[in-house]
Amino acid sequence: MTDNILPEIQKTVYLSTTIIKACSECDHGVFDDRHDIADQIHHYLEHGYVLLHVGAETAHNVTGGLWHSTVAVMGFRPSSDDKQPNNKMHRFRR
Ligand SMILES: [Zn+2]
Repeated sequence: MTDNILPEIQKTVYLSTTIIKACSECDHGVFDDRHDIADQIHHYLEHGYVLLHVGAETAHNVTGGLWHSTVAVMGFRPSSDDKQPNNKMHRFRR
C-alpha cells in the first residue's frame, strides 16, 4: 500500500475470532461462525470498508493459559459515489 488512506477513514471496526458481535452497519445480526473472520471481513468490504490490519492477538484466559485470536481492523472510506455505508445495503441478501 503506497497511498496513505488513513485521512479518508471515517470510522473503524474491530473484528476478532474471540468476540461475538453483530454487524454495526445493518441488521445482519451475529455472524454465524465467529471463527471464520474472513466472512466478517467480506461483509464489511461490501459496506465500503477497507481492511486496515489483520493479525494475531494473544491474551491470557481465566486459567492463565494463552488465548490466541485472529483480529482485523476495518475502516470505512466513502467513495465519491457512496458517502454513506448503508447505500450498499441492497447488495447483500443472505
Ligand atoms: Zn452489515
